[in-house]
Amino acid sequence: MSAQRPKILIIGGGFGGLFCARRLAKADVDVTLLDRSAGHLFQPLLYQCATGKLAIGQISRPLREEFAPYPNVKTLLGEAIVLDPDAHTVTVRRPDETEFVIDYDVLVLAAGMRQSYLGHEAFARWAPGMKTLDDALEIRQRIFTAFEIAETLPPGPERASWLTLAVAGGGPTGVELAGQIREVATKTLANEFHSIQPEEARVLLFDGGDRVLKSFAPDLTSRATQALTELGVEMHLGVHVTDVRRDGITVTPKQGGPDQQFAARTVLWTAGVEAVPFARHVAEVLGAPTDRSGRIQVEPDLTVAGHPEIFVIGDLAGREGLPGVAENAMQGGLHAATCIRRDLEGRPRRPYRYRDLGSAAYISHGHALLQLGRVRVSGYLGWLAWGLIHIAFLTGVSNRVSTVATWLASIARPGRFHRAFMLGAADRPEQRYTYSTSDLPAEGHAPGS
Ligand SMILES: Cc1cc2nc3c(=O)[nH]c(=O)nc-3n(C[C@H](O)[C@H](O)[C@H](O)COP(=O)(O)OP(=O)(O)OC[C@H]3O[C@@H](n4cnc5c(N)ncnc54)[C@H](O)[C@@H]3O)c2cc1C
Repeated sequence: MSAQRPKILIIGGGFGGLFCARRLAKADVDVTLLDRSAGHLFQPLLYQCATGKLAIGQISRPLREEFAPYPNVKTLLGEAIVLDPDAHTVTVRRPDETEFVIDYDVLVLAAGMRQSYLGHEAFARWAPGMKTLDDALEIRQRIFTAFEIAETLPPGPERASWLTLAVAGGGPTGVELAGQIREVATKTLANEFHSIQPEEARVLLFDGGDRVLKSFAPDLTSRATQALTELGVEMHLGVHVTDVRRDGITVTPKQGGPDQQFAARTVLWTAGVEAVPFARHVAEVLGAPTDRSGRIQVEPDLTVAGHPEIFVIGDLAGREGLPGVAENAMQGGLHAATCIRRDLEGRPRRPYRYRDLGSAAYISHGHALLQLGRVRVSGYLGWLAWGLIHIAFLTGVSNRVSTVATWLASIARPGRFHRAFMLGAADRPEQRYTYSTSDLPAEGHAPGS
């Protein structure tokens, strides 16, 4: 380390980066927290934003605001693109495509994962994933636009396909999204249309396994399945989504048998994750082994072998038994910061031990699952516990207060107060007034026609 105060560069202001920077906020170090979106995003509530229950400002917080009280923590907007491990520098791209360089003594990589289409990148054109605020806003636009378009069509197959929404992936995100879309259809929009009956909208949930929510105990899963069925979510298990098109999807049974076609004009993808491009680059330049999804193999203290100055934390840390959940990222962030502080004090680092503090999943209004060791709760009690946990971890007091207020208001009235979505204009080629630019026929379509 240099003679000045050690320079700590944290890449990623998600759960891992945020908790690491917080723990270092009063230490004798200079921290730079770099994020390509300049804000901390509370991903576990993204689906509520996508379905109009919460606003984007309620589930995100500017990192600059979060760390304003701490003079030793500098937050920067930019995307890390090149690591030079010999020079101890990272090259960063600004949104205007110019670049700058940051040097470090210790690097903490907390850049997370992105949506993976499991080798079918072409699906992304028709089926947005859900990892970022942009994704949530795009999904919101697609869901509410689908009902609007259906309203203008005569009864028939075209209208039915707009009223069929498909979700790929039966993990917590897929389940939460599917349940919320049915609630939008049956509660929020129920009395607002003249031509269509929104409650007749079909929500199809596809998963390759034999049950949804595989990370939960089977008894909790069956209760969730029952609640989803009562809500009207149609579950298709043991199938792989093998094609996604403009007007529908194809699924193939895992055990063999004929393909099935579903006419669905809204397809949402939650089926897989992979390391962000910068993490793949870091693994390559360090010669660090990765797993299939690009998680970087780490030593017991969460550093890369041969590089005690480079930590990898959160979703990107590849070690047996570390789950891709917020709790692991938060604990990893605290652990890396503690190692840095111990280095300063000349004390040895300790290995990282993940403590499982349980998991929760929202099914529908008044129903959630909570699993903590042998404690398993579902239904109303699970829902209350789920709400308390999420409020406790939401970043920023004002976000907590306004989220509680919004939830209480939506208990009193089944409305969604953040349904606004944006459509472009005919004269804006980058965002034109069509359902989406990718929805246009490939050729011969004049803008605005
Ligand atoms: C929809 C959804 C629902 C979820 N629900 C739950 C849940 O209920 N419970 C739970 O425990 N977990 C849940 N998770 C998982 C949880 O959110 C993740 O495990 C957690 O966010 C991982 O934290 P992280 O710090 O590793 O990465 P992230 O939180 O993903 O943060 C990574 C950050 O790095 C930034 N970044 C990426 N690349 C670069 C770059 N090149 N340069 C600069 N910055 C970069 C990103 O902008 C981002 O801010 C959910 C995830 C999603 C997507």
